[in-house]
Amino acid sequence: MKIVLATSNIGKIKEFKKMLPEMEVITFKELLGDMEIIEDGESFKANAIIKAKAIYDKLADKEAVVISDDSGISVPALGNEPGIYSARYAGIGSSDKQNNEKLISKINALGIERTPAFYTACIAIVYKDEVCTVHGWMHGMVTNKEVGSAGFGYDPLFVPKGFDKTLGELPLEVKKEFSHRAKALKLAKKVLDVIL
Ligand code: IMP
Repeated sequence: MKIVLATSNIGKIKEFKKMLPEMEVITFKELLGDMEIIEDGESFKANAIIKAKAIYDKLADKEAVVISDDSGISVPALGNEPGIYSARYAGIGSSDKQNNEKLISKINALGIERTPAFYTACIAIVYKDEVCTVHGWMHGMVTNKEVGSAGFGYDPLFVPKGFDKTLGELPLEVKKEFSHRAKALKLAKKVLDVIL
């Protein structure tokens, strides 16, 4: 089965390809080239639907299955920041490094070294007239030091529950077993079994 991924985030693409070895995963860029999608929803779910629908509507192949992922990290001690603004926490177009630096400065401003945090992923599946969404979460602690270079985004700051290393230090084989994205994808596969 061919899946069109409605994301241009290299980290997400790598993870999806690793988690879907049995499927042909193709990115929307390979089919449509660059395309700007305005993510102006107020939840992970709203933004995931916006992305998947925008790509599905542009595709000539109406038999295509489009999957999007809207995700981010939330820190309860910071009022659940950055949440849906994770990709642009330090401003539109900011790099992972700049976003991490902003989060570190916010943690430091609380006078602490680490605090509970969780990742959320919402996956939207668009196929013909169907739109389905599923969610997954991963809990742990966020720290004020970047450690390791594996993963992407906030991974060098995030220590998953049950581990004493950041996701920057843990191999993708480990992250793919219990991440927010892996959990959502497990549910997405069940949805695909039903709707296809
Ligand atoms: P989106 O592409 O608009 O969904 O934004 C996702 C952003 O959330 C990324 O740019 C990262 O900053 C963050 N994020 C989501 N999932 C992960 C993850 O698995 N690891 C690290 N950061 C993540």
